[in-house]
Amino acid sequence: MLTQPAPSSPRVRFGAGLRHTVAEEVARLGCKHALVLSTPQQCDSAMAIAEALSDKAAGIFARATMHTPVEISDEAVTHLRDTGADCVIAIGGGSTTGLAKAIALRTDVPQIVIPTTYAGSEATPILGQTENGIKTTLTDAKVQPETILYDPELVTSLPTAMTVTSALNAVAHAAEALYAENRTNHSTALAVEGMQHFADGLPAVLENPTNISAREKTLRGAYACGAVLGQVGMALHHKLCHTLGGSFDLPHADTHAIILPHAVHYNAQAVPDLLKPVTDIFGGTAPGPALHAFATKMNAPLALQDLGVTQDNLDNAADLATQKPYPNPAPITRDGIRQLLQAAWSGTAPT
Ligand code: NAD
Repeated sequence: MLTQPAPSSPRVRFGAGLRHTVAEEVARLGCKHALVLSTPQQCDSAMAIAEALSDKAAGIFARATMHTPVEISDEAVTHLRDTGADCVIAIGGGSTTGLAKAIALRTDVPQIVIPTTYAGSEATPILGQTENGIKTTLTDAKVQPETILYDPELVTSLPTAMTVTSALNAVAHAAEALYAENRTNHSTALAVEGMQHFADGLPAVLENPTNISAREKTLRGAYACGAVLGQVGMALHHKLCHTLGGSFDLPHADTHAIILPHAVHYNAQAVPDLLKPVTDIFGGTAPGPALHAFATKMNAPLALQDLGVTQDNLDNAADLATQKPYPNPAPITRDGIRQLLQAAWSGTAPT
């Protein structure tokens, strides 16, 4: 199993019911009082963690928000200081983890993250923040969480549609890692492991969303895919998703799910051998169509038009996505990207 942490990696645990051990984990970090973080929607989960912490709970800040706005992070830091907390516990998806990272960036307090989606942010030293509507991303060892507790029971509440898009968001990290310029044998093996966990686990989760062993498998996939995102650079797929998400305010995971087969297909023409693990894992004869078939079987969203993107938006998106050069295995051409976006807009399988 490749998900054994290296010495400098966070402490990573998998297991049903792990959330009940938070007080021990706080003590293990040498801390006394934790501020619990969540979105407003997951406030009940934050309260349950505070209860499990007992006298180690300093308070709850339940205002985590998509794209980590700096004003919310600054308020959370004030709250951390007011409550005397010396560590944070994030329970939630990438938005809540983002808030924990933003607090750690500003204060260097240790973080315990209890992920409830497959976004994988907990496994990276990367933080995206928004200020005056502009999102910037930084990489800093300070934002890498110290402890990650993967409790599959917590993911059973993730709605089916989000389960699928969040899983494909994770698979996208792994697929792009296969052709990253700075890939290593280890990052490739981790990417393959992550994709395999989702190929095996996701169909079983959809059959029975409360299947704990299948949920754990998908969480192992999330960790592997997240870790690989922290190790290597991303290319066309992530660039397109950021451009589309930022320009048209699209849902993060849905955008990843829709673009993935098309971005992979675009690059498969240049590096078919590097992308061969995708067909080995998901079946079929070509990686883009294989991912499209898997997404279709999982009932994932397939078409940008269903997210409210118009045909007119595609020209603008193609311009933006081709403006600044970035490393990518297949040459980036305006016509090629416009064609890719057309297929992603209509939702047809890449050909
Ligand atoms: P999210 O955290 O925004 O969650 C979406 C909604 O689902 C929220 O309302 C949340 O409370 C709810 N939710 C989460 N888990 C749930 C559960 N188990 N049951 C019921 N409701 C649940 O979504 P996300 O896709 O996890 O995260 C997206 C964000 O993470 C984006 O801002 C993205 O940029 C960031 N991200 C960062 C990195 C990184 O390395 N920095 C990596 C991946 C994603």
